[in-house]
Amino acid sequence: MTEKKTQSQLQDERFRMVQDQIVRRGIHDKNVLEVLRKIQRHLFLPESLWAEAYDDNPLSIGWNQTISQPYIVALMTELLKLGPSDRVLEIGTGSGYQTAVLADIASEVFTVEVLEALQQTAKSRLQELGYRNIAFRLGDGHQGWPEEAPFDKIMVTAAAGEHVPKALTEQLKEGGILVIPVGQFNQMLIVGVKHHGSLETTETIPVRFVPLV
Ligand code: SAH
Repeated sequence: MTEKKTQSQLQDERFRMVQDQIVRRGIHDKNVLEVLRKIQRHLFLPESLWAEAYDDNPLSIGWNQTISQPYIVALMTELLKLGPSDRVLEIGTGSGYQTAVLADIASEVFTVEVLEALQQTAKSRLQELGYRNIAFRLGDGHQGWPEEAPFDKIMVTAAAGEHVPKALTEQLKEGGILVIPVGQFNQMLIVGVKHHGSLETTETIPVRFVPLV
């Protein structure tokens, strides 16, 4: 049996997570490190998983979906080069943890989720936590959010088959940055910068995400 952890134990684990999993692996964006120390990741999980909330791996959030590994959240956020004036589109709200990270740094976040149950839970959680700069949409992220485009930054937290969905490139501002896992079995985390209407992409690291449906 595991004992229930206290708030101060969870905070210690959170600080240790940032040091051991994130700083040590080379993430240095100060905003990213600060928000990962601040946001109570365990609150984005069922209480039965709180003891594992700061472990170095993804965790199940039901409906065959996962909350990403903390390092991957940090890396994808750093790759976006987020600033306080950015309007960000996120595809795959999931638990809402990555959404909170984005919303703490950027000016506005527009997040799209296809599964209603996950969206409802994430939405009420983020509203209870006091976030007022997040807009939620239920639907297929391949279409983006045309009414709110263009976006300074786009983050996709489920894997696209072989290509970046066309609507997402279209909805990115010129000079904007998009981060997305691409591939069926062997996925690669891709960073794209939009120049003259098309994406110039760079491969970063191999990753494993659930596929976009
Ligand atoms: N950022 C989330 C990761 C969730 S996993 C977190 O850290 O919790 C990927 C999410 O993408 C799941 O919630 C899944 O339901 C959602 N998803 C899958 N296909 C989608 C699609 N076509 N449009 C929008 N969301 C999708």
